[in-house]
Amino acid sequence: MTIQWFPGHMTRARRQIEEKLKLIDLAIELLDARLPDSSRNPMIGEILGGKPRLVLLNKSDLADPAATERWVEKLAADHIKVLPIDANAGTNVRDILPRAKELMAPKFEAWRKKGMEPRPIRTLIVGIPNVGKSTLINRLAGRHVAATGDRPGVTKGQQWIKVGKEMDLLDTPGILWPKFEDPQVGFRLAATGAIRDEILHSEDVAFFLAKYLCTHYPSVFQERYGIDELPEDLDNPHEVVGLLEAIGKRRGAIMSGGKINLSKASDVFLHDLRTGKLGRISLELPADAP
Ligand code: GDP
Repeated sequence: MTIQWFPGHMTRARRQIEEKLKLIDLAIELLDARLPDSSRNPMIGEILGGKPRLVLLNKSDLADPAATERWVEKLAADHIKVLPIDANAGTNVRDILPRAKELMAPKFEAWRKKGMEPRPIRTLIVGIPNVGKSTLINRLAGRHVAATGDRPGVTKGQQWIKVGKEMDLLDTPGILWPKFEDPQVGFRLAATGAIRDEILHSEDVAFFLAKYLCTHYPSVFQERYGIDELPEDLDNPHEVVGLLEAIGKRRGAIMSGGKINLSKASDVFLHDLRTGKLGRISLELPADAP
């Protein structure tokens, strides 16, 4: 993310969303399918008040499909309407409108009773930085309208984008802050690139990721790097660093004198995760959620 969140930023972000909420019927909450809990704002329910909410698990192309299925089941069991999507490729994006209409059914009914003409569903996309808000807005708009990348404050006036005849979308998303309290959450977010590497050191994040993958996806080390031997004791930091060094060795992160450049090895490893080179990986399951 391009900003560090201090209480002042959060207050401003919240105020900006509350201004937009006055204009809309429905909120689309964008989460990262690889870490739906860590990418969720802890105050979202309170912030949205009673507004109907559709949850989208974005970047599902990068997530483990079995894990995504479990998340969908869990959220559905919590009576949350949820849909996994890939905003880049457009997968499932055409299902957004029908789901939104289901959520709006009671409101449509209330309008009808008052004799009001049906009108397009006024919608706002909300989510933490880097979760894919601009990408989804562009995709729904069918043309390039929102600047990709998080640049708060760029767009001054609000504009409506027509998504077919039945939905109007605010062209600037609502930017939410992520959770902070749990260091594990910070590492998961950092591993996906949602928190900049300057805030958490890439070596620490890579260390976290190596341990996580040894437990949950041990075959990736052989498949991607040809490494057969994994640490026997994940609580022994030397063994985990040894694994990162082995990755560095395979990927040419070597300094003059033959020493492994651990920082470069960490960057390569994280880059491989973020670009899907390690396969489809989820960083948390419903049972792991704090
Ligand atoms: P925003 O800060 O929430 O507006 O996020 P952006 O729309 O700028 O997206 C952040 C990054 O995630 C960009 O590099 C996008 O190309 C990428 N991205 C967005 N959606 C997807 C997706 O569904 N799959 C993948 N693989 N990448 C995505």
